[in-house]
Order: sequence, then structure tokens, then C-alpha cells
Amino acid sequence: MAYSYEAPVSQSLFDRASVVTPGGVNSPVRAFRAVGGTPRFMVSGTGPYLTDADGREYVDLVCSWGPMILGHSHPEVIAAVQEAVSRGTSFGTPGEGEVGLAEEIVARIAPVEQVRLVSSGTEATMSAIRLARGFTGRAKVVKFAGCYHGHVDALLAAAGSGLATFGLPDTPGVTGATAGDTVVLPYNDLDAVRAAFAAHPGEIACVITEASPGNMGVVPPADGFNAGLKELCAANGALYISDEVMTGFRTSKAGWYGVDGVRPDLMTFGKVMGGGFPAAAFGGRADVMAHLAPAGPVYQAGTLSGNPVATAAGLAQLRLLDDAAYAKIDAVSAELRSLVGDALTKEGVAHTVSSASNMFSVFFTDEPVRDYDDAKKQEAFRFTAFFHSMLEQGVYLPPSAFESWFVSTAHDDRAVARIADALPAAARAASEATA
Ligand code: PLP
Repeated sequence: MAYSYEAPVSQSLFDRASVVTPGGVNSPVRAFRAVGGTPRFMVSGTGPYLTDADGREYVDLVCSWGPMILGHSHPEVIAAVQEAVSRGTSFGTPGEGEVGLAEEIVARIAPVEQVRLVSSGTEATMSAIRLARGFTGRAKVVKFAGCYHGHVDALLAAAGSGLATFGLPDTPGVTGATAGDTVVLPYNDLDAVRAAFAAHPGEIACVITEASPGNMGVVPPADGFNAGLKELCAANGALYISDEVMTGFRTSKAGWYGVDGVRPDLMTFGKVMGGGFPAAAFGGRADVMAHLAPAGPVYQAGTLSGNPVATAAGLAQLRLLDDAAYAKIDAVSAELRSLVGDALTKEGVAHTVSSASNMFSVFFTDEPVRDYDDAKKQEAFRFTAFFHSMLEQGVYLPPSAFESWFVSTAHDDRAVARIADALPAAARAASEATA
């Protein structure tokens, strides 16, 4: 596919990057491999807008893959960061900021009685499954195809996100010994979970699931699925781990737990809680968390865990996320979903706008999408045409048909109008696309 617009400065930065960094990016989903063309190198962000190195402005519907829920450069978050930085950047000791952030998380999310701060969502899920194994004395972990939990060796089997984007079933470098204790099941299929518990009695340490998946596109849990997981775990002595790295503090004040009320044994968080800095967490039942070092024997640590600048950013962001903020995000999301759906319908493009609270994505199929296999059946080539038309018109979407779109409190009428103006041509491009 040829692109009618150019990005010469981004292109020359990408050429330089490709010499010194594999594939030219520091996280695969940032590359445009699934859609083709040159990844945009961004130089600044304000509110709902990003500006690239060629000086072009985009309405941002990626929001740094979730964290920027207040938009870019929110003045109160920036002020909190500047204040924290002025006192130093890392002490390697406990500090008040991390206590405040932990208290805010515990206050918002009832199942979290204790929490440990880490630096990435990957670390959070890796540590949570280690803790589950240490607590139960069991080895096996159940995960679902299409759910992504970071690049933890044991969790990379049939993962979504970049692995879905690039069509990778799993990855070289993960040994059979590591992956052998991972049981991968189809999403939204409680019978498969029942069968796994029956096939491995007394061996399953935990079931980990995205609270509501966003890494195979947005595929919400069927009614009763999360509650069923919780029940099956409880009945079989396994822990139920809800990965809220993406949904946490986004889908409601208390994340997806605030939506479905199913009480996990352990939960993981990241993205929004770091305010754009590397901060993440795992937490849950106090009796389970008590097994973590130094209180207990399961080791986990981090030089930059609870970093004072990151915790200041996260705390400032969470404190601004009140009921009015979520009402705003939900309303913008609903408006965009209907605009996108109408534009595609008008051009006769088969599609499903799939949403979970304010997270949403578009599948280019009109068949129901309940799991990863369904998601893969979509006509992803139509997304490619749609994506490039939107990009050309100044709207930055995730460069993959298998990712959630994200909005922020900063997406105002002007930003929505710019998206609305871009949609008819993008829908036409999708309708005219060929495989
Ligand atoms: N879990 C989920 C549900 C995610 O969406 C992600 C990242 O997208 C992760 C874990 C990993 O987080 P990180 O990229 O911060 O390591």
C-alpha cells in the first residue's frame, strides 16, 4: 500500500533508531509493522493532542496505551512531578509518596487489603503469579488465549497485544520447562476451566485473566464469566488473579472491580496509576500478601519501586479522577463509538464496535466476538486502510486491529469534531480496501 503523505523527520529518526535498536522501537506495538508506513516520533503532547517531529498535530486515541486518562501535560500532574523532582529523583529508602499511593489504591479497591508497588505491569503479573505459586505450593497457571499480561515468560503463550498484532503463537526464548506449567484456555469458556481443574487436581496455583480483555481488541467477559472463575478457583484451592493493568482506574473509579463486583484474591495494576511514569502494583488478600518478603518467604524487590517522582505523578492523577471525570470519559467514549459505527454502516462496512465501559475497539466483522479465535476472523486489512486514512487526517489510532482505543477527560468537543470529520473518508477507505 502506498501512502500519499510523508513524514520525513520521523522517517530519518526511524532510520537512525533502526541502526541502534531492533526494529527501531523499544516496544513492538509502537512499530507500524501491522499497518505499514513510518511510525510517528512524537515530540510533545497537550490535552487530547500529540505533535510529531514533522510538526503535525494528531488527536490521540492511544493515550500512551492507557495511562494518559487526563490527557497530556495535565497542569496538576506536571506540577506534582516538578515539585517531587525538585526534592530529588530516587532515595532507595521508603518515602511518604509511596505510602500515599498505596493508601489511595487500598481506599478505592475493596479487595486490595495490601499492595506492593513495582515499576511495570509485567513485573506486577510476574510477581503475582510467583506469590500465588508460593502461597499455594502449586505450579500450574491457567491463562486465556488472547489475554496479554506483559512479557512474563510463563504468560506469553497465546498472548494478545503485540503477539496478536504480529500473529505470533508464542515466542522463542521461553523454555518448555517455563511454559509447561501454563495451561492456555479459550476465553469466556467456563467449561474449559472446569475441565482443566478436573485434569490437574491439586496442581493449579491460580487462574489469571484480564478483568475485561483489551489486548485482542476489546472482548468483555460474558455475564457470569468472572464470577464463575472466582467460584471455580475457590472450590479448587486456587487463587483468582484479576489483571487490571489496563482496566484499573480507567473503567471506573475502582476499575473493572467497580463494574462487576467480583472479588479477586490478587489484582494487578499499572498504566493509569503511574500518571505516565513507570509505576505499577499488585495487591489483594492480606493473608496472601503476608507471604511476600520481608513479611514472608516469597521474594520480590525493585531498586526503583515506589519511585518518588512516579508516585507523585500517579497520586496527582488518581486524585483528579473523581466521578465527574469518569462520567466525562464514558460520555466521550459513547459518542465516538456511535460516530465510528455510523460512518462504517453508511459505507456498508461489516463491523462490530465492541466496548467494555469506556474502552472500545472496532472489529471488522459483523460476527460476534467472544474470544481470540473470533477476533482473528475479522478483515484486518480494512483496519489498515481505515488507520492510514485517519492518520493522514490527523487522528492517531493504535496501529493494530487488536488493541483498545483510549480516550481522556481532555477529549473535548473540538477533538471529537476533528475525529468526526475524518471518519467518512476513513470508512470509505475501509470499504474500498482489498486483502
Ligand atoms: N497486563 C495487561 C492487561 C496489559 O495490558 C499490559 C500492557 O499492555 C501488561 C499487563 C503489561 O504492562 P507493562 O507494559 O507495563 O509491562
